[in-house]
Amino acid sequence: MKRLKVHVKGAVQGVGFRPFVYRLAEELKLKGFVINDTKGVQIEVEGDMKSLELFLLKLSSEKPPLARIHFVDFQFLEPLGYEDFQIRESSELGEREVFVLPDMATCEDCLRELFDPSDRRYLYPFINCTNCGPRFTIVERLPYDRPNTTMKGFTMCSKCLKEYEDPKDRRFHAQPNACPRCGPWLSLYSSRGEILAEKDRALELAVEILKSGGILALKGIGGFHLMCDATSEAVVSLLRERKRRREKPFAVMFSSLEEILFYAEPSNLERALLLSPERPIVLLKAKGGLAPSVAPGLKRIGAFLPYSPLHHLILRSVGRPMVATSGNLSEEPIAYKDHEALERLSELADYILLHNREIKRRCDDSVVKVVGGFALPIRRSRGYAPMFITLPSELKRKVLAVGGMLKNTFALGFKDRVLLSQHVGDVENLGTLKAFEEMVLDLMELYSFEPEVVVCDMHPRYETTRWARNFSEERDLPLLEIQHHFAHTLSCMAEHGLEGEVLGIAWDGTGYGEDGTLWGGEFLMCSYKDYRRLFYFSPFKLIGGEKAVKEPRRVALSLLFELFGEEALNLDLPTLKAFDFKELHNLYRAWKSGVNSPQTSSVGRLFDGVASLLDIKQVISYEGQASMMLEDLYDPWVGDHYPFELEASRINWKPIILSLKEEKDKRRAVSRFINTLAQVCLRVAKEMGVERVCLSGGVMQNDPLISKIRELLESEGFRVYVHQKVPANDGGISLGQAVFGGLWEQYL
Ligand code: ZN
Ligand code: ZN
Ligand code: FE
Repeated sequence: MKRLKVHVKGAVQGVGFRPFVYRLAEELKLKGFVINDTKGVQIEVEGDMKSLELFLLKLSSEKPPLARIHFVDFQFLEPLGYEDFQIRESSELGEREVFVLPDMATCEDCLRELFDPSDRRYLYPFINCTNCGPRFTIVERLPYDRPNTTMKGFTMCSKCLKEYEDPKDRRFHAQPNACPRCGPWLSLYSSRGEILAEKDRALELAVEILKSGGILALKGIGGFHLMCDATSEAVVSLLRERKRRREKPFAVMFSSLEEILFYAEPSNLERALLLSPERPIVLLKAKGGLAPSVAPGLKRIGAFLPYSPLHHLILRSVGRPMVATSGNLSEEPIAYKDHEALERLSELADYILLHNREIKRRCDDSVVKVVGGFALPIRRSRGYAPMFITLPSELKRKVLAVGGMLKNTFALGFKDRVLLSQHVGDVENLGTLKAFEEMVLDLMELYSFEPEVVVCDMHPRYETTRWARNFSEERDLPLLEIQHHFAHTLSCMAEHGLEGEVLGIAWDGTGYGEDGTLWGGEFLMCSYKDYRRLFYFSPFKLIGGEKAVKEPRRVALSLLFELFGEEALNLDLPTLKAFDFKELHNLYRAWKSGVNSPQTSSVGRLFDGVASLLDIKQVISYEGQASMMLEDLYDPWVGDHYPFELEASRINWKPIILSLKEEKDKRRAVSRFINTLAQVCLRVAKEMGVERVCLSGGVMQNDPLISKIRELLESEGFRVYVHQKVPANDGGISLGQAVFGGLWEQYL
């Protein structure tokens, strides 16, 4: 007889791990106990050596589906003579190291019960079990136990309590466990804040509203959605008007995969992503059939499947696809509190469907795109956050990395892992900065996290940089400001566990460079310690600064001025026709004098310039729009490319634009342009002779571009790494920042 003491670390709480251990112990006739603690799960079992070894083996191999084990520590000791096997109450002592799991989509078992008229939870919008349901968005503090969640106010009825306490039940210690008798319920409000109906009646009316062309604000898992019929142009364009969102595509929720197949053509990988428990929005090739205003000018739609019982009930009852976009005004953070919805969403929605299970923290829907056969996260949030990224080696200190500005996330780094926050949004105004601060302080508190160093971007005008300066000063912490494209590359290195030196190709819209100009077409030799800027695209001027970011025609004009000087004004091109005569002359003067016209090497802007020269888009209404439209025009049968030149450390784009300007066929022009960029990568990679190449930055979300770069470089023996865990866009830079801050040695 021996006693086996085991400590399991990882995502092992709230996933049915203790009942699993209980069943395993019973099966092997072992005595002892299992308990959650702040570091994971502790187990002691007594029995003969053979059974104990088997126990250890099965612990990892038969673990519950949602559990993720990161570390198993065990030792064999003398037996104490336990008489039975017990599940003990949680202890709250010690440093918190437990990980909260993300919110998971309704499982198959719960779904079956939801639509089974004989089940006591028939049509109950809050059904869940240990294999599914909310977690991250309901936990108030650790450990994850019912009194520490927003379910604390609901006292379980005898039937629910019996399930909750029965180790053999699927709902054993399912913290949000509830039923129509004892759990939360729905209530429907008018936009003026009057209560119209409750419970089943509220749901019936909500369905009626959607069927008859109304706009409904609906409280979901991590915030509010605005919903309306995705097949009705009238209501979708009305929603655009109210939300003040001109063209940025809306996501569409479908009742089932079968329904999606009527409107889009998902590949096998895309189907798997749609059905995964994380239930992200997946960008799919559209077949048509939805209202044109859902995704104006694009050939892809963002599709997803219901992930909460409430979504399932609504989608099935309405019987057609629904726009499901985050409940906010454009540029604002998503609303997640009842009072926020009643105040802020009343102008956007006709009715508001609330429920009385509080959302503790906001968590937007995630977005994934399949690029060159891999799933690339575009927005990593619900279903993924707050799962951490494991690093190849330990960080030297605890680090808070605040990210950038657009599509922001922040990160907490410690030991060998980085916990990336949920999507924060564009931190560019007071509202979003407030939300950002609230979210940073919330996660730090949840994990009792005290940073030893703070890392931010070098951009002096990012709100997050300003915030980091204040915060580090208040707490007397060292602050590191790191270059944007270096952070991009580091995040790609970190998620692949690469060490040593790599060639980082970091292309995006803009990032602040060491020389005060705006970078964005960079080839960097990177290690975790440092980087060198090897090559970059010849800089050109952004006439009017920020304005040029929204107007591809300004970028194209600047490229033409670089090529032809004032003569450019006499050219017969769509770009020039997009301005009036007076504007053109003013812009030329601005370009010549350089007033408010910063230099940039950005490839994202080159894409914009091309979009204008080919008259695909002259003015954009959301970031990345021009690049997305060019992507749709790419023709894989066009194999050739334009000439380009490498001059010292610069890539001269002039020959590219000169040839492109003469091209008559848009598709051929776009395809050759993208092929040329891939050829540039190959030339530089050969020049440097480094085997490993990391692709990062917002431009590296472009499917044909990434596919072409990989095809070219891999056929020449290079190893190409693309993002698969964190976004290539600025939503991923906090990971790179965290790794840099955690490993840096010199500042002490
Ligand atoms: Zn379930
Ligand atoms: Zn109940
Ligand atoms: Fe960037």
